[in-house]
Amino acid sequence: MYHNFLDNIVDLSTPYYCYDLSLLRNTIGNIQKEISGFPFVVHYAVKANGNPRILEEISKTGLGADLVSGNEILAALKAGFAPGMMAFAGVGKTDSEIEIAIDNDIYCFNVESEPEMEVINEIAGLKGKKVGIAIRVNPDIDAHTHRYITTGTVADKFGIDLPMLDEVVDQALRLPNLHLRGLHFHIGSQITTLEPFKMLCEKINFLIEHFEDRCITFEMIDAGGGLGVDYNNPEANQIAPFHDFFQVFKDGIKLRPGQKVHFELGRSIVAQCGALISKVVFVKENSAKKFVVLDAGMTHLLRPALYNAHHKIVNLTSQESEHDTYDVVGPICESSDVFAHDEILPITRRGDLIAILSAGAYGESMASTYNMRSLPQSHFIE
Ligand SMILES: *Cc1c(COP(=O)(O)O)cnc(C)c1O
Repeated sequence: MYHNFLDNIVDLSTPYYCYDLSLLRNTIGNIQKEISGFPFVVHYAVKANGNPRILEEISKTGLGADLVSGNEILAALKAGFAPGMMAFAGVGKTDSEIEIAIDNDIYCFNVESEPEMEVINEIAGLKGKKVGIAIRVNPDIDAHTHRYITTGTVADKFGIDLPMLDEVVDQALRLPNLHLRGLHFHIGSQITTLEPFKMLCEKINFLIEHFEDRCITFEMIDAGGGLGVDYNNPEANQIAPFHDFFQVFKDGIKLRPGQKVHFELGRSIVAQCGALISKVVFVKENSAKKFVVLDAGMTHLLRPALYNAHHKIVNLTSQESEHDTYDVVGPICESSDVFAHDEILPITRRGDLIAILSAGAYGESMASTYNMRSLPQSHFIE
């Protein structure tokens, strides 16, 4: 894939994000092929990358949008997403954000607490509207066996836990300005095995049956996102394993007639189509190590500093067959501003262009201006 980036070096000042739009389209085409013929609806989780051009490209494919703030709702509307295909999640929705969502008649609030439900009911009442909600369930899927799952256990702030669920569902059915559409789940991110999704299907089946016994049926189940991508071999695995992922749900969920499953995929849609292009400012040596100092840092791509994540790094300029070992670091005044320790690269020099791959998700969208750095620009390859 980086040949694509190499062939398209542009006269932009580094650092900038470079997006391969044909890969983005192929990725979404693959999703649409896998879900066709099934009662599945896919939403794009805008927080992964809210670049206006990326949003426009995705909205054109007909996917829905999964949103976690009022500003994301406004950006999604501007990019052409249909309000009837929008879900609004998050533990701390403010009154004004709730108003934006209600005024625009979005499909569904994914509600995370009883107080939130009451406030949505009240604001909807003032506006004379009845609004769709789903209740976010914390399914308490065992985090110990799958360390990447961080949002679906009782210790996390997200969702309603199982012991309280009956009461919250009853309350949702009592509140006059709410229409309960279903249950929502999102168990974590960068999940690279199918086991957690199989466990999720079992929980979903159990709950569909449990509520059916109480004469409550749901029009939809939202299974969330979380499918991981291959950060180690992005060229070999440009497209996430959507076939296997959706197969788990095709085999695993016992849907009732008319019921739909919604998905909210972020990372797996955009991660591989983006690279952060940066320039080597200095190659610096001390008694122990060699450092490649880039003009990009944690303000442009936070994941390494925040989660200890590793992205594949490619020198786009160097023709050297000889290699050396470098720590690849940014310019920011923080010790955590490191992209890689002991990275093996072709002999690297001041001025070389460096691509940091798999940076399309949670890259540009997490950028900041710390140290008064400028936000990265973006460039698109067709
Ligand atoms: C972040 C988020 C997603 C997307 O997660 P990915 O791991 O990027 O697929 C989906 N749903 C909710 C509620 C989220 O917070």
